[in-house]
Amino acid sequence: NGGGQDAKNLRVKLVLLGDSGVGKSCIVLRFVRGQFDPTSKVTVGASFLSQTIALQDSTTVKFEIWDTAGQERYAALAPLYYRGAAVAVIVYDITSPESFSKAQYWVKELQKHGSPDIVMALVGNKADLLEKREVAVQDGTDYAEKNGMFFIETSAKTADNINELFENENVRTMENS
Ligand code: GDP
Ligand code: MG
Repeated sequence: NGGGQDAKNLRVKLVLLGDSGVGKSCIVLRFVRGQFDPTSKVTVGASFLSQTIALQDSTTVKFEIWDTAGQERYAALAPLYYRGAAVAVIVYDITSPESFSKAQYWVKELQKHGSPDIVMALVGNKADLLEKREVAVQDGTDYAEKNGMFFIETSAKTADNINELFENENVRTMENS
């Protein structure tokens, strides 16, 4: 699948899934360009970006990132992006219980139809909006633990935990490959 083989230059295919508006595109933009655009456009279909990071031991990891649209009308296209992906990052918005339910839908979908060795990460984004929080950290932690997923809360706005998300996934993927 999309996991890297060469110990020095790994290639990781990663797909972002989750409800429209949870911040998937902003997470990618923050990771790839170090920017946050509060007027970012709705993703149509899916978009592709890549970013290479260097690890301490001089290994490089090239992330090939598929950022999908969350809208229902594109749901049938999702398998095109998650099949062959080494890592699936499933995002919800900590101010939206509906988006947390949708994240659980994606986890089940991947458990049923995804590659059995796909690494899944659950991400609670918009962690800067603490006063509007409606999904407890514990709920995210518990769900992720039950489903053998890595869990992290991020903010694309403040950049909190964005690099940690990708670095962590990368480590898990290398362990798996
Ligand atoms: P997507 O549909 O999942 O790709 O969501 P977008 O990346 O387009 O973001 C949807 C909206 O949420 C935009 O108005 C962003 O400015 C906003 N947003 C994204 N990430 C964050 C975040 O971490 N904090 C806050 N406060 N807003 C965010
Ligand atoms: Mg988007």
